[in-house]
Amino acid sequence: MKANCWNGVNDLEVQDVPDPKILNPRDAIIRVTSTAICGSDLHLYDGYVPTMERGDILGHEFMGEVVEVGPGVKNLKAGDRVVVPFPIACGGCLQCERQMYSLCENTNPNAWLAEKMFGHATSGIFGYSHLTGGFAGGQAEYARVPFADVGPIKVPDGMPDEQVLFLSDIFPTGYMAAEVCEIKPGDVIAVWGCGPVGQFAIKSAYLLGAERVIAIDRFRYRLRIARERAGAETINYEQEDVYEALMEMTGGRGPDAVIDAVGMEAHAPGAIHAYDRLKQAMMSETDRPYALRQAIMACKSGGIVSVIGVYGGLVDKFPMGSFMNRSLTMKTGQAHVQRYLKPLLGRIQKGEIDPSFVITHKLPLDRAPEGFKMFRDKQDECLKVVLYP
Ligand code: NAD
Ligand code: ZN
Ligand code: ZN
Repeated sequence: MKANCWNGVNDLEVQDVPDPKILNPRDAIIRVTSTAICGSDLHLYDGYVPTMERGDILGHEFMGEVVEVGPGVKNLKAGDRVVVPFPIACGGCLQCERQMYSLCENTNPNAWLAEKMFGHATSGIFGYSHLTGGFAGGQAEYARVPFADVGPIKVPDGMPDEQVLFLSDIFPTGYMAAEVCEIKPGDVIAVWGCGPVGQFAIKSAYLLGAERVIAIDRFRYRLRIARERAGAETINYEQEDVYEALMEMTGGRGPDAVIDAVGMEAHAPGAIHAYDRLKQAMMSETDRPYALRQAIMACKSGGIVSVIGVYGGLVDKFPMGSFMNRSLTMKTGQAHVQRYLKPLLGRIQKGEIDPSFVITHKLPLDRAPEGFKMFRDKQDECLKVVLYP
């Protein structure tokens, strides 16, 4: 089959690789009908996530048709159409019972490696380095889905791929980012980053009752999409001082909750960017937490800091004094996607949201490397690329 393979930093190639096979009774093989490129893939592409190996198949947002199931999978059969969540979860461990699926204790065969880095391991994740298990991803014609009796959700035939594909990751992710903000009527939520995850965080904050959502980025087309399709007010951080603007918009108190939908590769104007970029290059910090610092400083006292952007290791100049003295709370995590599949599919069916609003580019799988470059470099007003094997 064909698959989009990582060959090194900024080096991808669609290659012929062996078809996946059923290895365990609870596996299923899916013929992928559509798959997307995620901001998290960029951290692998750019080389900020360790333990990638030449030939690794990328992709953790995918859906398709079941072609084969192992004897342990009773709820799916060949021909079913499914969306596959990006964390791999067993359904039976302590964390899965608590619905903390991205912390599943049984699905990461490289737990020892993750323990060294994080103290404790996370779940396995498709196509996301050997730290999360080294599983082949879904930017391919076929994918092996372990614990297929737990993760995938069946989707009704009438719904096009583009409407349900993002249940695999970015819709639940943006939704979880907003949900942990414990939004109450009248609340103002600020979202750093107007990438696909930021857009879903904005939409979800409104679905959960926010009165105003203020979104921050520097790409004018992304800010425009945040205003026109997601309904946010916007701040361009290259044109305005974000802290001043937010105080002006919130009567001096700051947003009730803040969402970092940027993560470890944040950009900052001027000298601060150079400082973090240099420390990152020297490996004396692994992540550039510029948006996170700003979000903490701006958040209303007693408020919630929701960190959904991905971080990999260590950050520098974390404003602990502001965080502690002002009774802030931080909520974070890789999305516990399985928890949200049914309720969010329900919201799509009821017409409360059409997740296809983020799609700007549709390409054949063959052109995945081009899609990555376009998405990373924000060419051609790219917001979300869907690939079709
Ligand atoms: P993206 O790269 O398209 O979006 C990031 C956006 O942040 C860009 O538009 C960029 O211009 C903006 N940005 C950069 N620096 C900024 C700053 N200082 N202030 C404000 N905006 C800034 O990616 P995406 O697909 O939207 O993903 C966003 C983040 O969410 C990534 O870190 C990704 O890894 C993460 N993510 C997390 C989960 C999870 O489960 N926690 C799931 C999916 C993605
Ligand atoms: Zn993702
Ligand atoms: Zn589990």
